Amino acid sequence: QSTIFSLIQPTGNIHLGNYLGAIRSWKELSESDSPGSKFIFGIADLHAITLPKDPQTLKRFRHEAIASLLASGLSPEKCTIFHQSAVPEHTELSWYFTCITSMGNLNRMTQWKSKAQQVQNSSIYDDRVMEATKAGVLCYPILQAADILIYRATHVPVGDDQSQHLELTRGIANTFNHTYKTKFFPIVKTLLTPSKKILSLRNPSKKMSKSDPDQNSCIYVTDSPEIVAKKIRKATTDSIQGPIYYAPEERPGVSNLINVISGLTGKSIDEVVADLHWVKDHKQFKDHVTELIVEEFRENREMYQRLTADISYLDEVCARGRDNAREIASANIAQVRKLIGMD
Ligand code: ATP
Ligand code: MG
Repeated sequence: QSTIFSLIQPTGNIHLGNYLGAIRSWKELSESDSPGSKFIFGIADLHAITLPKDPQTLKRFRHEAIASLLASGLSPEKCTIFHQSAVPEHTELSWYFTCITSMGNLNRMTQWKSKAQQVQNSSIYDDRVMEATKAGVLCYPILQAADILIYRATHVPVGDDQSQHLELTRGIANTFNHTYKTKFFPIVKTLLTPSKKILSLRNPSKKMSKSDPDQNSCIYVTDSPEIVAKKIRKATTDSIQGPIYYAPEERPGVSNLINVISGLTGKSIDEVVADLHWVKDHKQFKDHVTELIVEEFRENREMYQRLTADISYLDEVCARGRDNAREIASANIAQVRKLIGMD
């Protein structure tokens, strides 16, 4: 019996990378015929405050994130949809895990240093950055392990920027099982989506990221057709004339847009490039990308507008999700307490 689990942070609007790298596969998995499987998808609000957030903004983002998940097609009938902070068992388990995780292992996670630099506005990680960095920025992969394991999840569908953290989760599950002579925690499988990591439209050496302050770097699933067109028109490409071809090193911007098409259409990179033989210049290419994106998100955008106007419905979905989630989490934490002598 599988439990499929994943979270997304309420750090901003959901973008094309989140959609292709995660949410679309959550939807497809939950719609597949899989009797007995559980689907738990939520909003990682505790993770969102590792970078400082103004309370009103956080509150708004928490609601909008639920609306975005529903607007992206997740069904509250098939999936448990909830806020992480509504289930306190996550943080309790996180503490037990903090006590069995070495600093060395955390330090090897590549994401936190770039996050720390970002907060301190520095191009390198040095002593000054270390002094100012909050412990949450270093420790959040432990909370992530607790998020997954509190449900004893078996499969985690994420984008490939999360592979390293999932490896840490497996390490923590192993350490716990070994330390307490148990097989309680499963060793989770990472379900990587077939589409490649989507890069920033403005700077294709970085990934597309919700917390990127440059709004033009992301296509949000709720952008109007005019905004999509404008952002794609402005997307960094190159001045190479002639046919479009895929070369991530030489043509990162163009190749990123090819990835986008491949993600949206489900075609391989080679097929996409072959299909683009009629394209004469960058303008035609970009117009084509715009059209595909606008079409993919047409319904999402309309549904999102309706949902954000109906807070009581969003609250109802979250309350139901929280109750489902807590039922599993409280039973599991009771077992954990017993195993470590905390009962
Ligand atoms: P933040 O900048 O605040 O970290 P984010 O855009 O990275 O936001 P997350 O909430 O951290 O989004 O991640 C949600 C899911 O989206 C994860 O499964 C992650 O792997 C996936 N994801 C995030 N960015 C991309 C991307 N550019 N391409 C593909 N998948 C992505
Ligand atoms: Mg992220």
